[in-house]
Amino acid sequence: MWWDGGVTSRDALAGEVRAAAVAAGLAPRGAGGAAPVLGAGNDDLGPGRAYLAAMGRWAVPAWPVEHGGAGLGPEDLGVVQRALGAYAMPDLYPFAVGLALVGPTLLVHGTPEQQARWLAPIARGDEIWCQLFSEPDAGSDLAGLTTRAERDGDVWRLAGAKVWASRAHYARWGLCLARTDWSVPKHSGITVFAVDLQADGVEVAPLKQMNGDAHFNQVFLDEVLVPDGDRLGDAGAGWAIARSVLALERGGGAGAPAAGLGLGDTSALLDLVRAADGASAPLARQRAMAIHSDVQARRWAGRRMPGSKLRMADTLKASTSLALEIQGPAGMLADGEWATTFLTAPSLSIRGGTDEIQRNQIGEQALGLPREPAVDRDVPFGDLPRSGRP
Ligand SMILES: Cc1cc2nc3c(=O)[nH]c(=O)nc-3n(C[C@H](O)[C@H](O)[C@H](O)COP(=O)(O)OP(=O)(O)OC[C@H]3O[C@@H](n4cnc5c(N)ncnc54)[C@H](O)[C@@H]3O)c2cc1C
Repeated sequence: MWWDGGVTSRDALAGEVRAAAVAAGLAPRGAGGAAPVLGAGNDDLGPGRAYLAAMGRWAVPAWPVEHGGAGLGPEDLGVVQRALGAYAMPDLYPFAVGLALVGPTLLVHGTPEQQARWLAPIARGDEIWCQLFSEPDAGSDLAGLTTRAERDGDVWRLAGAKVWASRAHYARWGLCLARTDWSVPKHSGITVFAVDLQADGVEVAPLKQMNGDAHFNQVFLDEVLVPDGDRLGDAGAGWAIARSVLALERGGGAGAPAAGLGLGDTSALLDLVRAADGASAPLARQRAMAIHSDVQARRWAGRRMPGSKLRMADTLKASTSLALEIQGPAGMLADGEWATTFLTAPSLSIRGGTDEIQRNQIGEQALGLPREPAVDRDVPFGDLPRSGRP
């Protein structure tokens, strides 16, 4: 039960959240101004930052009070989420790695000093984080990463190349996986670091995406010095942390929270279908209802159900295809919201782990099928043949 401030009922909790939303200037949902899908077509950090500053603990209600949250348990969290669901959210995509991945990870794996240093700036939107996991030769096979970290007294020296790092061009910090031990099998020699992207030796090079955005980047690390105090967890114990980050990402739909990422809201599609006329309308209605039912079923099942991200990718592709069909040639030509979202939708089948990898995991973890065969699991990583090596 929520207790702070003497309020004991869930109605009162919902009322307080609604009051905070109104004070933060949020419009009712459906009144326009909703977040673009996965930040597509938008580079404005201002509204999201203003929202986080204004909402305070209601932006991170599960976090402990001492780190800027409200310390709520799962049931009360649902009350907050339902209350906020009535409002159009600003674009929280730039802040999503910090809020949904790094924050919860720090709460479990961070030292008290790291929590005190990093959590509050994340919650306020002051410091943006990105995820430095993927490399040119390590995507689905993430544990095959070759960014190297060598200890030199109280610092680590990082060298390597990361790629597809969303938000790195405006991030202050990167949650980075690096190899610290080449003499053990690939999953055992990885360590997690927080890399200050303003440090000497960091170069960030944006990449252009097919939807017109340049939201992801190559990040080159050239002998970057990282203090040992910015290491998360023990040296060599990074794979377990990486897996928990990926579980958060996949459970929440490629960069949860879903709120502020424009996902799971069918109201704009339903408005479009309502306005459609002519012979195609009944078919459009049928398809829209299938999409809406899927979104509702996923909401009721909970975002952590196996395959949540797969379903989200499918419904996003289905809804943007339907929207463009309804709009006809105008939809194809327009440089508008639906066209941008249509060109963004396929990325959800790649970012945070591809559809094929999600299916492998459902097979192994939910259905109990045999594990995918691998020949490199027990071999010291340094002994494995790799491209570019004799
Ligand atoms: C928009 C976007 C944003 C991203 N943001 C980030 C980010 O912020 N930080 C970050 O670190 N990364 C990010 N990524 C990278 C993303 O996580 C990787 O692209 C993804 O994990 C796939 O890796 P890859 O591109 O190397 O493809 P590969 O792993 O080379 O895969 C190529 C193809 O082979 C298939 N495949 C590979 N292995 C298997 C297997 N075992 N079984 C079946 N099929 C298989 C894949 O499904 C895919 O179709 C982002 C990607 C996109 C598109």
